[in-house]
Amino acid sequence: MNDLSHTHMRAAVWHGRNDIRVEQVPLPADPPPGWVQIKVDWCGICGSDLHEYVAGPVFIPVEAPHPLTGIQGQCILGHEFCGEIVQLGEGVQGYALGDPVAADACQHCGTCYYCTHGLYNICEKLAFTGLMNNGAFAERVNVPANLLYKLPEGFPREAGALIEPLAVGMHAVKKAGSLLGQNVVVVGAGTIGLCTIMCAKAAGAAQVIALEMATARKDKALEVGATAVLDPSQCDALAEIRKLTGGLGADVSFECIGNKNTAKLAIDALRKAGKCVLVGIFEEPSSFNFFELVSTEKQVLGALAYNGEFADVIAFINDGRLDIRPLVTGRIGLEQIVELGFEELVNNKEHNVKIIVSPGGA
Ligand SMILES: [Zn+2]
Ligand SMILES: [Zn+2]
Repeated sequence: MNDLSHTHMRAAVWHGRNDIRVEQVPLPADPPPGWVQIKVDWCGICGSDLHEYVAGPVFIPVEAPHPLTGIQGQCILGHEFCGEIVQLGEGVQGYALGDPVAADACQHCGTCYYCTHGLYNICEKLAFTGLMNNGAFAERVNVPANLLYKLPEGFPREAGALIEPLAVGMHAVKKAGSLLGQNVVVVGAGTIGLCTIMCAKAAGAAQVIALEMATARKDKALEVGATAVLDPSQCDALAEIRKLTGGLGADVSFECIGNKNTAKLAIDALRKAGKCVLVGIFEEPSSFNFFELVSTEKQVLGALAYNGEFADVIAFINDGRLDIRPLVTGRIGLEQIVELGFEELVNNKEHNVKIIVSPGGA
């Protein structure tokens, strides 16, 4: 199945809403200069993949070809992955065949204002792997070598698929500034919420208070290190947060759902001059009264994806500051991805965090 001489491979291809097919596709072409080809080990199913499945196209370009990659109408999904280099494009330095790697998914142009100012995650032509270029729910994937991170010796391969979502949490945490000794609120304990709780703890937060309504996720939040979990449907969450923070409110909050009501809650949970970092993907506008920010000098920031945080996350997993084990709730082969992956996550949201897929069928 993984023999190099084969010309085709199996891949999970998005064709349209509710239409993801595991099918035979040509192997990626030889990697162009500066790119490598990776044999995929594990790739996690992300909330954004689910979005494309149930409500897509969201990010996948269908109207016009993507300006950086030319992808249009169809795309091999998958961006939370690790694997082994099996082919080196011309001019790639510092990597060898067989190297275990993870890849930052923010493919970027390298020449726009943002790329030339260290902000490649908000590149004008940002092309997320697995949404705007073919991804890693496949046996092989091509990616630019400048997005690779070598995995240290002995690094657990499964953990390689969790680097990406943890990097999202780490980026959000970095946006907030130092969390040392701070009281933190995390709204939502889905994958990104849980990753943010873990990173906030690892960054030295004194308290990490999670807001969540689903029982299984409340338990997970505590398992990954939340110091308290509040259910806004069962208590006055704002009053409880004030009780836990000497009457003030949180120093920092993270909104990890993407809902106008929970965003308001995340801002209300803050003390004056506190910081709220928005991480969720919002679908609707809100009628928020901005005077609430003027009168309190609260700050609200957005955080998109990550900007180099793969390095921190790999180091933190490697030395034990981040333990990914509670996050993995399922391991499946590529052929089962629709039934036991996407459908399972849609129908059984509460009992799953991260389902990881092995295209090699391991
Ligand atoms: Zn993701
Ligand atoms: Zn750019």
